[in-house]
Amino acid sequence: MERTLSIIKPDAVAKNVIGKIVDRFESNGLRIVGMKKIQLSKSDAGKFYEVHAGRPFFGELVEFMTSGPVVAMVLEGENAVAKNRELMGATNPKEAEAGTIRADFAQSIDANAVHGSDSLENAKIEIDFFFAGRELL
Ligand code: ATP
Ligand code: MG
Repeated sequence: MERTLSIIKPDAVAKNVIGKIVDRFESNGLRIVGMKKIQLSKSDAGKFYEVHAGRPFFGELVEFMTSGPVVAMVLEGENAVAKNRELMGATNPKEAEAGTIRADFAQSIDANAVHGSDSLENAKIEIDFFFAGRELL
């Protein structure tokens, strides 16, 4: 049993497809154990994506992630980290496999609909960034 962090990014929230994305997780054996809609500040987004701080797209990434509300979720299930990444599809939606969330709901490499933790270790850090223990049920 694993837990991982998922974020429905501002583009997908604006497109009103929160429910459709949540359905992908629930229909594929993942359980929502925490969920909140939140407006990230520049400082929040910068801290969350700290690992990318030196990359040329960092400024745009922070700008985009703060352009509107996001939905942060903790998903629980067997191999949740890998399962979530599989359901998301490739970072660039043009390269994402048919039937994945990014292939179906994302328009570009920055507006790519969802975030998912890339390792169990990062999942723990990212879950703690958004949620208190009493919010995970
Ligand atoms: P995420 O961390 O959001 O789940 P990811 O793990 O698939 O996505 P990362 O390499 O961690 O991809 O990049 C984080 C985010 O930064 C991507 O989701 C994307 O929005 C943005 N990004 C990554 N590479 C580029 C790029 N070359 N140009 C513009 N934006 C990029
Ligand atoms: Mg990543």
